[in-house]
Amino acid sequence: MTTELSQDTLAGELERARQDYAALAARGLSLDLTRGKPAPEQLDLSDDLLGLPRDLRSAADGTDVRNYGNLKGLPELREIFAEVLQVPAEQLLALGNSSLELMHDCLVHALLGVLPGAESRWVDQERVAFLCPVPGYDRHFALCERFGIEMIPVPMTSDGPDMDVVERLVAEDPAVKGIWCVPKYSNPTGVSYSDETVSRLAAMTTAAPDFRIFWDNAYAAHHLTDEQVEIADLLAACEAAGNPDRTFVFGSSSKITFAGAGVAFFGSSPANLTWLLANNAKRSIGPDKVNQLRHVLFLRDAAGVREHMARQRALLQPKFEAVQRILEAELGGTGLARWTEPKGGYFVTLEVPDGCAKEVVRRAAEAGIVLTPAGATHPHGDDPRDATIRIAPSYPGQDDLEQAMHGLTTCVRLVGYEQKQAAA
Ligand code: PMP
Repeated sequence: MTTELSQDTLAGELERARQDYAALAARGLSLDLTRGKPAPEQLDLSDDLLGLPRDLRSAADGTDVRNYGNLKGLPELREIFAEVLQVPAEQLLALGNSSLELMHDCLVHALLGVLPGAESRWVDQERVAFLCPVPGYDRHFALCERFGIEMIPVPMTSDGPDMDVVERLVAEDPAVKGIWCVPKYSNPTGVSYSDETVSRLAAMTTAAPDFRIFWDNAYAAHHLTDEQVEIADLLAACEAAGNPDRTFVFGSSSKITFAGAGVAFFGSSPANLTWLLANNAKRSIGPDKVNQLRHVLFLRDAAGVREHMARQRALLQPKFEAVQRILEAELGGTGLARWTEPKGGYFVTLEVPDGCAKEVVRRAAEAGIVLTPAGATHPHGDDPRDATIRIAPSYPGQDDLEQAMHGLTTCVRLVGYEQKQAAA
């Protein structure tokens, strides 16, 4: 990312960045690019849900959705999401309103109970560690912190986590019990795992007999371009490789219908399903089937999900295109930044010169533009290079987003040229 500038050019660029920053700060903006939340217009697309189910009280099998029961969730909804999440319907559960909650619960159950294939509960082991591809999703890391699970960073490549590193670590250390994966349109890089990555994850030798891949397929249907990326089927690959219990698949309709008022899904092997259902039977008398039925009526089938996601894309695509356009116009050729061009999902990762990310975020905040804290993409909030910034373009309106992006690029130029000047 280095571009050499003459001292005069550098002084000129720094002066221009300072003036732009002063003008930016004087505008008294109040803009927020922090979290990957759907915009109100995206939520409006699902407003018909609010009037459903109208006269219907029963699911296809006659279940009265207003009553307790049915721990697996409605079969017709599991059928719809089977295709979206690449899990056979009979191996997919439709549960509560949050997949993050399911990930939390799976960790708790593995800590306090014995997983299929495990020799003992995780709490009874001296160390429990998870591999954390970085940059990654801060809430995964927060779960590990919460439960005292050691986090081992693994670099991301354009094909997914660096599999040479993953294979070595899982083979040599029995304390490594899991890996966090966002396999499609990853948070925050937008990377989708290659077929080779998926087959190596399925087949690798693990020292821990109870190793689990937490396959958080949160963006399975969230395309932003005509190239609709499809990933290989990990659950089938694990079964074919003789490791049927290796994977927990998570997903939800949070960013399909309503964020936090959708339906979350868990897919896995029969043994893992029995294990989770037995644990769930203690904590719940059944999921919210009224919400599940309204999702069936609203989405209809997997084709209905695809049509709905095309409407979401129409709202999101111009925002992601604006991010690319502004980054290229303001930072292209400066040597001050690199960024990802996601084909789906909710995020763009911006890489600034080492040692600059925190300062860029601080300067942006001073000018009224709030960004995800620098470091959030790494375990314990510590990005050793202090170079990664996550951009979440979905929530602000188009004008606000464009203003925020111009402001952010001003901060990158200011901090980047200041650093170059100090080093000159
Ligand atoms: N996983 C990932 C990778 C996410 O980005 C998000 C939302 N930001 C979630 C899970 C949360 O999903 P849910 O609403 O189903 O808990």
